[in-house]
Amino acid sequence: MCGNPLKYEEILSAGPFPCPTCNARLQAPKSYGRWIALGSLLLPAVVFWALGFGGLHLLYAILLTWFPVGYLALHLVKYVMPPKIEIYLPEDTRLRLRSGPR
Ligand SMILES: [Zn+2]
Repeated sequence: MCGNPLKYEEILSAGPFPCPTCNARLQAPKSYGRWIALGSLLLPAVVFWALGFGGLHLLYAILLTWFPVGYLALHLVKYVMPPKIEIYLPEDTRLRLRSGPR
């Protein structure tokens, strides 16, 4: 990282992205994406629960909203709580193990 401050639009909350100035590969901390994913799961859960959803309906509602909410959160949370950007560390082998054979 060259120390050039990044604009919000240039930050990706998940996955590596190039520094617009020096082209170094940067990333938000892995924990940042994890917290966003967790928040996107818990927030709708609380909202639907407060709305009176229960049992399987609650589960379906959460599963249906998780992806769009998570997608929005990945693009919006950085404006409120920008991640601490670090140099990208490839985790190829671990990622491949986790995603399994296709
Ligand atoms: Zn840079």
